[in-house]
Amino acid sequence: MRGTTLWAGVLGLKQTAIENVVFDPDGSVIFHVRPMAGQRHRCGRCRRRCPRYDAGAGRRRWRSLDHGLALAFVESDAPRVRCREHGVVVAHVPWAVHGAGHTHTFDAQVAWLVARSSKATVSELMRIAWRTVGAIIARVWDQTLTEHGGPAGDLLEGMTRIGIDEISYRRGQLYLTVVVNHDTGHLVWTHEGRNRATLDQFFDDLGEDRAALITHVSADSATWISEVVAKRCPTAVQCADPFHVVKWANQAVGTVRAAAWRAARAAGATHKNGREQGRQRRDSTGAARELGHARYALWKNPESLTDKQRQRLDWIAATHPLLWEAYRLKEGLRKLFTMRGETAIEAFHDWLTWARTSTVPEFVHLAGRIAAIGSRIEATLTHGLSNALVESVNTKIRLLTRIAYGFHTPQPLIALAMLTRGPYRPQLPGRDPHTCQ
Ligand SMILES: [Zn+2]
Repeated sequence: MRGTTLWAGVLGLKQTAIENVVFDPDGSVIFHVRPMAGQRHRCGRCRRRCPRYDAGAGRRRWRSLDHGLALAFVESDAPRVRCREHGVVVAHVPWAVHGAGHTHTFDAQVAWLVARSSKATVSELMRIAWRTVGAIIARVWDQTLTEHGGPAGDLLEGMTRIGIDEISYRRGQLYLTVVVNHDTGHLVWTHEGRNRATLDQFFDDLGEDRAALITHVSADSATWISEVVAKRCPTAVQCADPFHVVKWANQAVGTVRAAAWRAARAAGATHKNGREQGRQRRDSTGAARELGHARYALWKNPESLTDKQRQRLDWIAATHPLLWEAYRLKEGLRKLFTMRGETAIEAFHDWLTWARTSTVPEFVHLAGRIAAIGSRIEATLTHGLSNALVESVNTKIRLLTRIAYGFHTPQPLIALAMLTRGPYRPQLPGRDPHTCQ
C-alpha cells in the first residue's frame, strides 16, 4: 500500500485520495487531497451531480485533527458547480460539511468533548474559539438529524407520554420550549420561543398520526400550553408537572423566611460594620443571621441535608412556628408526589385542607392556586409520571444554559441540549461505539 493511501485511513477521510503530504513553513502538516471520482462535481447543498462552473476561489484548507504536536490541514481545490436548483455553489467535499472550515473528524471530536468537559478545556485542547465550538456543535446536530431522517429526525416516533417545559437563558431575555419523552427520559424536541406558535410548531413536526398516540402530557400550569395541547392532542390526559408545583411551594417558604429575616433585623439583630458605597453597612446578628443562613436548609430535600443544616431546621422548629409550618407544608407537598393512586389523591385533598386552614397566608394563597389545577394534579398522581426524570432533564439543561452564554444564537444551545440529553449522543471519530476501540 502506498504511503498516501495509508494517510487517508489515519486521518479518517472517506472517499478521498491523498496526493501529497507536506510541511508548511509555520510547522503545520498539510495533506493535499482530492475527492474520489464519484464524489466530484456534486452540488455542495444537495449533492446532485452538476456541470463544473469554474475554479472558485482556488485552493482551500480545512482544519483536521492535530498530527502529533502539529496543526494539521487538508488542502484541496474548491471548484464551483452549477446546480439546477441551487445555482452556482462550491462543490461538495467528502471530508467536511458544506461551508465548514473543519473536517468531519474534527467536528465529531469537538462535539464529543463539549458534551463531557468544560468550555475552557475544549477551546484550549482543540485550539478554537468558543464561538467556533458553537458553530461546530450546531452543524454536528444538523448532520445527526439528517442521518436519522430529516428535520425532526425519528426522535418523535412512538411517544405516548411527554412533558413540555420552558427554559429561560440570557437572564430571561430568551426562551426555549423543550419536550421530553417520559418513557425514555430523552429530550426529543427543542425550539426557540415560548408561545402558542412555538408549540404549534412541535405539533406540526409531530403530525396528526403520532399526536393521536400521545396519552399523557405533563406541563406547568401555563394556559398557552394547556390550550394548544387540548386543541392538537385532544385525547391526551393533561398532568401537572410536580417539578413546578413544588417550586411554587419553595418560593412561598422563601417569602416567609425573608419576612422573618426582615422582622429580626428590624428588632435590632444587626451590628454596624463600616461603610459600603457611602452607606452604613449593617450585618445581621443572632436570629437574623441564622435566618439568612437557613435558606438552603429550607430549600434542600431533607435526605441531603448536612448536620449543620439539620441543626438550623431544629432551631427554626423551636423558634419560628410560622416558618416551620410553611416548611412542613412544602415538604408535605413534595412527599405527596412520591405517592400514587387513591391514597395519593386522598392525601392531596387533606393537604389542600391543611394549607387552606393554616396560619401561613402564603400557603392559604398557594392552596387556591394549586386547587385551580387540581384535576391535572390528580392525573399526575393517578398515572405516576416520573417527576425525578423531568426534574433531572430540567436541571441539566439549565446548567447548559450557563456554558451556552457565549454563543451568539440559540442554535448552539439547542444543539448542545439535544446532543447531551437526547438519544443520539456524540461519538468519537473512528471508534466503534459498541467496543470502545
Ligand atoms: Zn443543489
